[in-house]
Amino acid sequence: MSRPIQAHIDLSALRNNLRVVRRATSARVMAVVKANAYGHGLLQAVEALHDADGFALLDVRDAVALRDAGFRQPILLLEGYFSRDELPLLAEYELTTVIHSQQQIEWLDAYPRKNGLSVWLKLNSGMNRLGFSAQEFPAAMERLKSHRAVRDVTLMTHFAQADEAPGVSAQLALFEQLTANRHQPRSLANSAAILRHPAAHADWVRPGIMLYGSSPFADISAESLGLQPVMTLSSELISVREIKAGDAVGYGATFRAERSMRIGTVACGYADGFPRHAATGTPILVDGKRTRTVGRVSMDMLSVDLSALPDARVGSRVVLWGEGMPIDEVALAAGTISYELLCALAPRVPVRR
Ligand SMILES: *Cc1c(COP(=O)(O)O)cnc(C)c1O
Repeated sequence: MSRPIQAHIDLSALRNNLRVVRRATSARVMAVVKANAYGHGLLQAVEALHDADGFALLDVRDAVALRDAGFRQPILLLEGYFSRDELPLLAEYELTTVIHSQQQIEWLDAYPRKNGLSVWLKLNSGMNRLGFSAQEFPAAMERLKSHRAVRDVTLMTHFAQADEAPGVSAQLALFEQLTANRHQPRSLANSAAILRHPAAHADWVRPGIMLYGSSPFADISAESLGLQPVMTLSSELISVREIKAGDAVGYGATFRAERSMRIGTVACGYADGFPRHAATGTPILVDGKRTRTVGRVSMDMLSVDLSALPDARVGSRVVLWGEGMPIDEVALAAGTISYELLCALAPRVPVRR
């Protein structure tokens, strides 16, 4: 027997979540599979999402791997190219690229090939991360429209607060103003905008987190959106003990028992990707029943309160997140978001599909 931790990837849940996207919009769906498909395994995720209309990621080697695996859809590089040397590869593999900077246009100017590339020109509409400013955007648009190396142009922007009260109106208004009367396809919406801002769906939507079964909103559960968790991280109790009032648990003795209690030790720690910042009280399932973590998470183990679970024993199944234990609740208790937890699943955790 090996260490009992594992991540189960439920590919039928991934397909379900793509159907939720389809029901929400009639736009084409560019499935975002960056960061190893948010930690789920790139190739398997893309196979499950094979009827998406396109795939978006960052690393040109991953894009090439998808082409080599036979996927014919547009594959979009979300940060574009990082040097002019990459341009021949983009053309050879028919990869679609974001262009977000003047530097990238200059590299393109020095590229001799004709009519090769599909590009997504990015407007910085307020996030101030990537993209041309409102002042620069019209000239960049004209330049690319007539560029000898460019076959077609899609216009895009990205929202900073699609999941929150201020919403998308200011960014959407700026994008619409700058792209009015243009024939090019347009793309704006991430998961939160797909679910909350239909006015921003345009021609292509770009869902990420919702495909993986997590809610993009702090105040709405994934389940109520019809989303199913794709990754379930589970392990087992490997030790159970009784402690007395006043006894401490874990590094730093940050948890001290107020009365006698049962404590279980789970084979899962921060070296597996469970967040060390998950405080005492982080929800966790043991034998399908909800309880809480106690004390600090250590590298390979964490502790749980079994006081209300008299039947729990060594070998009892523990679900850290996923089926029955929404990852969004774990993320909240750890002061982070599900995205970070999913992406941080450690390579040492065996994955089962
Ligand atoms: C990551 C990303 C997305 C997907 O965002 P979610 O919140 O996961 O849906 C969409 N567009 C861009 C440009 C991104 O970087």
